Amino acid sequence: MRVDLARDLVETAEGQRAEEILRRCVHCGFCNATCPTYNLLGDELDGPRGRIYLIKGMFESAEVDEDARFHLDRCLTCRNCETTCPSGVEYGELLELGRNYIHDRAPVSTLLERILLWIVPYYRRLRFMVRFGRMVRWFAPKPLKRMLQPIRASHIACGSDASVTLLQGCAQRALTPEVNQHIADLLRARDVNVKVIASERCCGGLHLHRGRHEQALHHMSSYVKELYDETTETYLSSASGCGVTVKDYGRLLGTTEANELADRTLDVSEYLHGFTFERHPNIQRVALHIPCTLQHGQRIQGLIERILEKTGYELVPVRDGHLCCGSAGSYSLLQAELSEQLLDRKLVCLEESAPDVIATANVGCQLHLNSGSSTRVVHWATLLR
Ligand code: SF4
Ligand code: SF4
Repeated sequence: MRVDLARDLVETAEGQRAEEILRRCVHCGFCNATCPTYNLLGDELDGPRGRIYLIKGMFESAEVDEDARFHLDRCLTCRNCETTCPSGVEYGELLELGRNYIHDRAPVSTLLERILLWIVPYYRRLRFMVRFGRMVRWFAPKPLKRMLQPIRASHIACGSDASVTLLQGCAQRALTPEVNQHIADLLRARDVNVKVIASERCCGGLHLHRGRHEQALHHMSSYVKELYDETTETYLSSASGCGVTVKDYGRLLGTTEANELADRTLDVSEYLHGFTFERHPNIQRVALHIPCTLQHGQRIQGLIERILEKTGYELVPVRDGHLCCGSAGSYSLLQAELSEQLLDRKLVCLEESAPDVIATANVGCQLHLNSGSSTRVVHWATLLR
């Protein structure tokens, strides 16, 4: 694709990177076929090719385009289009550049978005709000109610002398702490020394996806400072939304420590596949929803399936497994209507073979699916015994 960058942007790193990515696009439109919002709305501007044109237009005119803001806000950042693209267009990074461009020059934030960005990345604030919200959840709006399903409290002891650090994730730590507790128990039973860092903060993913580049980098730098320790060989993430961000720290921060932390971070499936487990006796048939951040973001495909099958579970067929469930970080709250339509479609696919449970690999997807499903939704690692 031919690109004529605006004069102001020719010498900038963001302009040059955007041009490099844009040039790879041959506007074939293959990506539209797997885009959930294009499938739902049928509008070219709500598909990846249309959004790419909108971003191109902004970088060529050096003007913020309100159409671009509207349609980029409706993008899930699921990166399904990246998996489909035959030309290797890094759509996720281009979207990040487009959103940053809009936010830097003409910031607009809804009250809900400001509240989310003020609460979610801060564990103590989030924990307080979750506890308070659970007491009054019947009065909360529907999208918020689904985030507030009661869960069992748990605590992971902080150990020293650890070979593995378990990343807690701010949302997961507040909303489903039993997942990491279970993973820590599994690992300790297999003689792995597991550590958690009590002062762990937000990885910066939420700000990154909302185009708040400066604040995202600030969170990321603090995260590296707090967590990186050259003697720790492996960092494990069980929330794929956090894992995909931390694995990208090398590109985003570019420091030696950030590179090291990114290189040493694994999704928990990449670590657990070396062990054997027992099946839960009351559960046999599992419908698996692999989050976009795992299959498209981290490009991990087939690994959880192999672990569960090796453990003795039967994986039921799931149509359109590549499509997003509509959770997508803050999307379920900020684009509630579209998110709910995607959820309904996803649940039809997950429930049509009547599984015993639905399993997934990210806290956001778990809560989102659970809010509309009559089948129990769990983190896949909690099926391992
Ligand atoms: S992003 Fe890839 S698949 Fe989509 S139009 Fe461009 S080249 Fe084609
Ligand atoms: S990231 Fe997902 S929603 Fe956004 S354009 Fe790509 S496929 Fe569509």
